[in-house]
Amino acid sequence: MNKYKDFENYLKEYPDENGYFGEYGGSYQAKELIEAFKEADDAYEAICHSAQFINELRRIRKDFQGRPTPVHHCERLSKLFGNCQIYLKREDLNHTGAHKLNHCMGEGLLAKYMGKKKIIAETGAGQHGVAIATAAAYFGMECDVYMGEVDIAKQHPNVIRMKMLGANVIPVTKGLKTLKEACDAAFEAYLKEYKDAIYCIGTAAGPHPFPKMVRDFQSVIGIEAREQFLEMTGIMPDAITACVGGGSNSLGMFTPFLADPVEIYGVEPLGRGSGVGDHAATMTYGTKGIIHGYTSYVLQDENGEPLPVYSIASGLDYPGVGPEHAFLRDAGRVNYVTISDEEAMEAFFLLSRYEGIIPAIESAHAVAYAIKYAKEHKSGSILACLSGRGDKDIDYVYEKYGCGEQFKLDYDVK
Ligand SMILES: *Cc1c(COP(=O)(O)O)cnc(C)c1O
Repeated sequence: MNKYKDFENYLKEYPDENGYFGEYGGSYQAKELIEAFKEADDAYEAICHSAQFINELRRIRKDFQGRPTPVHHCERLSKLFGNCQIYLKREDLNHTGAHKLNHCMGEGLLAKYMGKKKIIAETGAGQHGVAIATAAAYFGMECDVYMGEVDIAKQHPNVIRMKMLGANVIPVTKGLKTLKEACDAAFEAYLKEYKDAIYCIGTAAGPHPFPKMVRDFQSVIGIEAREQFLEMTGIMPDAITACVGGGSNSLGMFTPFLADPVEIYGVEPLGRGSGVGDHAATMTYGTKGIIHGYTSYVLQDENGEPLPVYSIASGLDYPGVGPEHAFLRDAGRVNYVTISDEEAMEAFFLLSRYEGIIPAIESAHAVAYAIKYAKEHKSGSILACLSGRGDKDIDYVYEKYGCGEQFKLDYDVK
């Protein structure tokens, strides 16, 4: 068996009609919500292949989002570590500064075709909230974003952005008042309002059809990158990489390369180390379980309750992971590796100083792995997904790390 050939028809075959990637995925839902999710899936399957939908989405991506985003060859950064060439797919140049808009605009357009008037979503750090509020403003829809009170206090600028974009930010006061409770509240609202509203999740996770829909909308990243890389170099990259939180930018980057002879590395956050509560490396340290309505790898205790997670990158600290990643790992097609806070921060400063690009801390995890790969391989190439820009992070980074004085940043570039 050829491990690449097996993936030639992959996107048509996975997930199956019940939303399973092998044994992962599915839909574990309150009975009442099953109808709502099925309506979204039926509409998606009916609409997403129509020429009208595809053409309108293409136009939006080009004229509103600024796609295609470029692929950048990091010539100076590569020289620091030998002859292995590092390339970046610049999702940070997408409108709103990250890849999340790729699926939010797709879901917004779907909502429009379905005749919905409102978008319901939850948000943790507020990045997804801002992207979905942007889509709602574009399509002229009402937008309710559920957000834990604790997160509202911590993420002031994103709360302001959402409100300026016209969204209602609805505080959630139950439990720990963070993402999990916000998620529950958004589902509850959806249950009541699904005739007029669509629910939009923030990543390639949750019950079927969301992992499939988000993966499909995000795959524009890999489709463009593959074409652009080929045009620039005449060959395929030896390896590709992306950071894995819930798994949307990584699946968008990876799936168009599955049938190519390219090594694939998903980067998980190791945070402060391998102890419980010090990281969010679900694929590396998790076990099979059910979380937020789907089966996947989960960081869980012996009762199946999610364990506390941590990463310096707030977009990566999630105790589950999109079910497709669990499948691709078991299939041996994607390798999962870890990068610590310190390694990510060194990469954050190196990319800023040697390439003039300040990355999101999430994305700095992928850059850090690309650097590690370049050090180990000495030749060849690696293409990393730069999922977002670092503007949102600079105040926090400056407070904690200054301008990077503690890292070795001064190299002689030959
Ligand atoms: C949200 C976010 C991530 C993590 O989400 P995925 O679904 O794993 O892609 C990564 N990078 C940035 C910049 C983000 O905003």
